[in-house]
Amino acid sequence: MSDLTHLPRVGEASALDAHGLADNFNDLHPPLNARQAMTESQRCLYCYDAPCIEACPSDIDIPRFIRQISEHNTNGAAHTILEQNILGGSCARVCPTEILCEQRCVRNHESECQPVLIGLLQRYATDHMRFDGHPFQRAADSGRHIAVIGAGPAGLACAHRLAMLGHRVTIFEAEAKPGGLNEYGIARYKMTDDFARREVEFLLEIGGIEIRYGQRLGHELHLGQLHADYDSVFLGLGLGASRQLGLTGEDAPGLAPAVDYIKTLRQAEDLTQLPLARRCVVIGAGNTAIDMATQMARLGAEEVTLVYRRGIEAMSATQHEQEIAKANGVRLLTWARPEEVLLDASGRVTGIRFAKTQDEEGRLTDTGEHIKLAADAIFKAIGQRFDDDSLSDATASELARDGERIHVDEAFRTSLPRVYAGGDCVAPGQDLTVQAVQHGKLAAHAIHQDLLAKQEAA
Ligand SMILES: Cc1cc2nc3c(=O)[nH]c(=O)nc-3n(C[C@H](O)[C@H](O)[C@H](O)COP(=O)(O)OP(=O)(O)OC[C@H]3O[C@@H](n4cnc5c(N)ncnc54)[C@H](O)[C@@H]3O)c2cc1C
Ligand code: SF4
Repeated sequence: MSDLTHLPRVGEASALDAHGLADNFNDLHPPLNARQAMTESQRCLYCYDAPCIEACPSDIDIPRFIRQISEHNTNGAAHTILEQNILGGSCARVCPTEILCEQRCVRNHESECQPVLIGLLQRYATDHMRFDGHPFQRAADSGRHIAVIGAGPAGLACAHRLAMLGHRVTIFEAEAKPGGLNEYGIARYKMTDDFARREVEFLLEIGGIEIRYGQRLGHELHLGQLHADYDSVFLGLGLGASRQLGLTGEDAPGLAPAVDYIKTLRQAEDLTQLPLARRCVVIGAGNTAIDMATQMARLGAEEVTLVYRRGIEAMSATQHEQEIAKANGVRLLTWARPEEVLLDASGRVTGIRFAKTQDEEGRLTDTGEHIKLAADAIFKAIGQRFDDDSLSDATASELARDGERIHVDEAFRTSLPRVYAGGDCVAPGQDLTVQAVQHGKLAAHAIHQDLLAKQEAA
């Protein structure tokens, strides 16, 4: 993590004791019990041409699995979910259902109070499934061997589908643990305990998938070599680098990328040992900014302000996420652009000055006013970008890009033959877990089809 060592520990500065902290990092949305799941499943109208399916990026047959729950067929429901989305358990926890399936649910209107709680029902099915062995079998061994780079949702979903199709897979992962942002990024109150690890263990039960850790493309590995050694390569690299504010003092103690802090928070065994800012400022407008601000508040920070340079309506965080932040006492300050990091004589962060902004016929301009916020720490959450080091070898640098991301066609083929990519590192879709899973799954089918076509042509 960036240097926050001068900050007090949560155990010293927070008013919360260990119990209070544990409560604050429990499930944000507690799971349904069997009775609640049964009652909720019976609210579904099992719509023909169900709009909720259309809104699901991973094509889950939602009415089917809900009907299976209502018939006490929990394993059947889980199978329906997992056949389309092998990370259905984590998606049930992290999907912004309020802008996806639940938004489109026909029961989502005022007189009904709320849509069918699809996310919680999905969680019920995947939490309570009990299979003897793995629910999916591998096809006969194809003799093909695929390299997958990155054990995040995209890479894992791709690997699982390739294994189902009979291919052997080696995943090369830079970190020491699998899961990508499920392990290192998702807010701790959305994915609690060691669920991310257990889900990967379940996924690997299919067999035929090996993961090699501490293997970073661009360092220990090069695309040119993988391209020569394997039948196909899938890149599920995510977006590893944080965007910079571009201000003097960017590296000062007290200023850190939000994702670095969240990573430490997710891995912490003892929350009381984390550094805590009594007054903190989070800069950004997306879900990472909301997660950072909310988690800081839940650790016991006295004052948390989230600052965005445009208005509330332009924030990419969903309204539901904004409400969560506000309910946790986070102050939202809009129309303010970071201008100067304020430092003390020893070079540590003491606050930040903003220029007030306005919308002038679609252009963001300064009003001429300024505002200063005192802060012990500033967290930047202004977006992630592609880490170019990953694609630094001669073969990798030939990959066509869409802006900074890897260019792919509709089947997730890159511009290099036999190289595919999906998840956050490519342009199509939204940067969501469920979207990454879908990319990985579709890319696996494209890899399979292309290998079959090659075999037939030979
Ligand atoms: C803080 C935060 C909170 C989020 N919250 C939500 C949420 O609540 N709901 C939601 O739907 N989405 C959320 N997202 C987005 C979601 O996590 C991502 O869309 C999803 O994880 C993308 O999956 P991926 O496999 O493409 O990338 P990642 O999850 O980033 O996985 C990429 C993997 O590749 C590895 N890797 C990277 N470079 C290399 C290399 N050179 N060599 C080898 N391995 C490499 C990484 O270590 C990682 O394991 C959040 C994102 C962030 C940053
Ligand atoms: S739209 Fe709502 S009611 Fe209709 S099938 Fe989907 S979950 Fe059920």
